[in-house]
Amino acid sequence: MISIALDGPAGAGKSTVAKNAAKELGFIYVDTGALYRSVGLYFSRNGIGTELNCDIEEILKEINIDLKFINSEQRVFLNGEDVSEAIRTPQASMMASAVSAKPAVRAFLLEMQRKLARENNVLMDGRDIGTVVLPNATLKFFVTASVKERADRRYKELAEKGMDVSYEDVYNDIETRDYNDSHREIAPLKPAEDSIMFDTTGNTLEESVASLLKEIKERIN
Ligand code: C5P
Repeated sequence: MISIALDGPAGAGKSTVAKNAAKELGFIYVDTGALYRSVGLYFSRNGIGTELNCDIEEILKEINIDLKFINSEQRVFLNGEDVSEAIRTPQASMMASAVSAKPAVRAFLLEMQRKLARENNVLMDGRDIGTVVLPNATLKFFVTASVKERADRRYKELAEKGMDVSYEDVYNDIETRDYNDSHREIAPLKPAEDSIMFDTTGNTLEESVASLLKEIKERIN
């Protein structure tokens, strides 16, 4: 099996680029952020805020998460409910960032990610795929873009979905999540030693997809 790790900060364009590249390669695209978002959604639906004043392990026992792949597109199910859209709100982003700093949550989701990579050719998108989840991945990329560019893209994406958010909030949210993700003690966001840096600043989606595919094909053929 071939596994390609794509790590990097929020809004670097990883998911859109990876989704398109996976289709072209015939791999499944695994968006691991959706797993953390689903856990976060469950906690917030139970009245728990980002401070996580609760018995995390007990609550995790109530959660069952399933990923299904339809035409290589991922759908995520939380206790049987398709939450693929519900997990995309800014509030779910902040909750995902909060729960993801908890070792119990990371351990809870780890085996599910490894199993997917054992059974399929995958392009796996996350923060710690190359460092923790798949340290022996066939290829590892660290995808980045400037904060401004990432905020511009995320704002546009949310506005197109009709969500009422301010640009300033989106920008601050990206900065806060970058800080949280790269400063947490467990599995912080950082490039694996053997990862290839891939900067999407100034690129169109098509340019990034073409360039990623070129990098991959040069190395796996
Ligand atoms: O990728 P996405 O923005 O959907 O991820 C949401 C949050 O989930 C991130 O801000 C990060 O805190 C967490 N996450 C993580 N490890 C991953 C994927 C996501 O900690 N592999």
